Amino acid sequence: MSEERRTMTSAQLDAEDPLAGFRRHFAGSEDGVVSYLDGNSLGRPVLQTAARLADFADGAWGRRLIRSWDEAWMEEPTRVGDRLGAVALGAAPGQTVVGDSTSVLLYKLIRAAVDLDPSRAEIVLDRENFPTDRFILEGIAAERGLTLRWLEVDRAAGVQPADLRTVLSERTALVVASHVAYRSGFLADAKAITELTHDAGALILWDLSHSAGSVPVHLDAWRADLAVGCSYKYLNGGPGAPAFGYVRAGLHSRLSQPIWGWMGADDPFAMDRDYRPATGIRQFLTGTPAILAMQPMKLMLELIGQAGIEAIRQKSMLLTEHALDLIDDRLVSSGVTVASPRDPARRGSHVTIEHPDFRDVCARLWRRGVIPDFRSPSGIRIGLSPLSTTFAELELGVEAIGEELVEAENRR
Ligand SMILES: *Cc1c(COP(=O)(O)O)cnc(C)c1O
Repeated sequence: MSEERRTMTSAQLDAEDPLAGFRRHFAGSEDGVVSYLDGNSLGRPVLQTAARLADFADGAWGRRLIRSWDEAWMEEPTRVGDRLGAVALGAAPGQTVVGDSTSVLLYKLIRAAVDLDPSRAEIVLDRENFPTDRFILEGIAAERGLTLRWLEVDRAAGVQPADLRTVLSERTALVVASHVAYRSGFLADAKAITELTHDAGALILWDLSHSAGSVPVHLDAWRADLAVGCSYKYLNGGPGAPAFGYVRAGLHSRLSQPIWGWMGADDPFAMDRDYRPATGIRQFLTGTPAILAMQPMKLMLELIGQAGIEAIRQKSMLLTEHALDLIDDRLVSSGVTVASPRDPARRGSHVTIEHPDFRDVCARLWRRGVIPDFRSPSGIRIGLSPLSTTFAELELGVEAIGEELVEAENRR
């Protein structure tokens, strides 16, 4: 980005930020928090969350009681899914459902995908993917007698089309990858990777946990097959809020998910003797969906809809660029290295930096209300949630990291 921008202060960037007005919709600086840089792990609550939950307890639940299942709740997993698809995933209605955790949805969708064509017995994944993704895949490979083809990828980058070309073949059943890598923040070229996967006749599953709500996703346009993601990160759904799953419409009649439950059945209240799956995306449900826990994210989806995901992305790129400018100016001389892509087009909404003292530094930062997160062995991840993070808050955080590094040096 330009030298002109580089000379802008945090205050100027905040003053010129067209999305600055959204900050007031989020819980603020209570409990001594001066810089919250962990919105990619747990987004702040939208301010109206408490009132929305109280209304829900009084109204739909308290007054309407069980009648609300017929009146609203049966459709809630697909209604919230469709809204999410529209504002953040580039998904037409009827392909996204909310429920379970990301880990459980990974299991259900991966099992469904690998069972499609038994002549294909390999799954491609990378060493740098989030632990749960790798563990679920290892479990499924053991359970189904499948082979995992591991990609060794550059830790500061992520899965590249060139990496994939070396392992794809007529034996590949499925590729699983993260759109934004949880550690480095690398943003994969999802369209190119999806195309390559399809050229080999395989399916692809995208984990959108670190992109949904901060980076535009175009599942339909990419012709993605499957996707999952968290709703407590950039979708601000709250701790343990249910995840989302996407299955391309063309696959609905061809896939069968492995956890058969009454809520995924064709007519739950028929109390049938035999399981017959629902048609469409509902077949990927299992038990009673967590309706209560879906309420907070709906507020965030409205804010994302108002701001527009493209404008959110613009701010996200400015935030990560400003973070790198501040890091270069103030931390690199203390031995800090950048473990995230320098190219904004290949970077999601967080920046990871490394230093041997960061475990201790991060603990001290938390005590002074500066909250990034620590990623073992030596990384600090600076998460920048575009609608709720200010440039000034970011600067304050980077400044504090510099001060704590000096402290750590002095103590030695
Ligand atoms: C955060 C995250 C998860 C979390 O899964 P849960 O089942 O919600 O604990 C999974 N995968 C990725 C890539 C993540 O970033």
